[in-house]
Amino acid sequence: MTEHETAGTAAAWLAQVTCVDVTLRLCRVATCRVELDGRRTAYCSDAHAREFEAQHLWPVARRVARRRARWACQRCGFKPSAIRKDPTRAATFARHELKLEVNHIEALRGSYRFVSCLNHADNLEVLCHRCHVEATNAGRARPGGERRDPTVGGAARGTPRPSRRRPALSEIVDIEPARD
Ligand SMILES: [Zn+2]
Ligand SMILES: [Zn+2]
Ligand SMILES: [Zn+2]
Repeated sequence: MTEHETAGTAAAWLAQVTCVDVTLRLCRVATCRVELDGRRTAYCSDAHAREFEAQHLWPVARRVARRRARWACQRCGFKPSAIRKDPTRAATFARHELKLEVNHIEALRGSYRFVSCLNHADNLEVLCHRCHVEATNAGRARPGGERRDPTVGGAARGTPRPSRRRPALSEIVDIEPARD
């Protein structure tokens, strides 16, 4: 893998980001957008690099979502860690019932989970397995719930299809387009 191929892969993944124009020399955090100076080409600060990462990259976004929910279901308050402390009670649950799942409120449909604006914090909710099943079924029952919205999803928007190789998080977040 040459440096050029690595940059191309990261650029294709970055094309999944639609909340800001990432080609402009402005901080990529939507609420910031300050002009960048000096050597900075993507973020005004390391804090905003991390903020962008938490809003777009699935492995980071889901970790942040669970922490924000204090490791409890946001609908029913179920807290697996409390049950795991009590072996007798824990034994009455299946293993998957003692895990918290992170649900996309607006479904991903054609979008790539790994990098997506659908990973914004306000589109994620932490659910226990039971509430997640209910949420998924409710979504399917909704009229047009399965309809593919052409305005949603990287694949449907005609953005370049990212390579199957998942880049390292740092390749996407730290990519500096102006660097040579
Ligand atoms: Zn900023
Ligand atoms: Zn629940
Ligand atoms: Zn976004």
